[in-house]
Amino acid sequence: MNKDRKLIIAGNWKMHKTAAEALDLIVGLKRELAAIKEVDLVVCPPFTALGAVSAEVLDSNLRLGAQNVSEHNGGAYTGEISALMLKEFSVRYVILGHSERRQYQGESNELVSRKALATHAAALKPIVCIGETLDERQANRTETVLETQLKGSLAGLTKDQMEETVLAYEPVWAIGTGQTATAEQAQSAHAFIRKVLVSLFDESIAKRVRIQYGGSVKPSNARELMSQSDVDGALVGGASLEVRSFTDIVKHSI
Ligand code: PEP
Repeated sequence: MNKDRKLIIAGNWKMHKTAAEALDLIVGLKRELAAIKEVDLVVCPPFTALGAVSAEVLDSNLRLGAQNVSEHNGGAYTGEISALMLKEFSVRYVILGHSERRQYQGESNELVSRKALATHAAALKPIVCIGETLDERQANRTETVLETQLKGSLAGLTKDQMEETVLAYEPVWAIGTGQTATAEQAQSAHAFIRKVLVSLFDESIAKRVRIQYGGSVKPSNARELMSQSDVDGALVGGASLEVRSFTDIVKHSI
């Protein structure tokens, strides 16, 4: 596939896999994906499995991501994990503003932007998630919602930081439901997101930022989704938990 932007495919393991299970999965992924150079590959295990997975990915073409980070550098924040703590495990990426965190932990766009700034301050790369609910889509509010999320979640980022940020368009109605956005729906949302990036930053940043699609990506729909001109990769939940399905998604995307 010939795109200026290198594809980036990340697996969001959510709250799945003990350290031992994560080790099994990463060993299998390393074996099956060792020859892949065309795509940036990222795995995002739960915090408790970062140590086990980190040791395995060090000498591989896979990169490590976390699923969240604190907006603070340290201090009396019980239960929180700072970006510097993630760096100890050679984490490179941090998923921010996933719809599950927005829904269950009440994360706002403002909090996501503070976390994005903390992530950049530690020289890690945020993967900032945005996406509309089914009600919002049905009320024709998709673009308004995306624009508000982009403005709020990316507030305060410099152009250089934006260039090192990955976006993930994840329609909430497609996450974990088996109901994937059509390739046309994905392309249209991604093109709109890029247009908003032009207004928030500039044309050249908008051209360079990678925008992943997420929401029930599977081996059977990866090729069509990834072939869209503004789709630069995938954020994969359920199908990233098995070696076969994640590997097939990657191979079908090239
Ligand atoms: C996700 O968790 O970001 C996701 C897209 O999940 P799934 O692939 O299971 O829909």
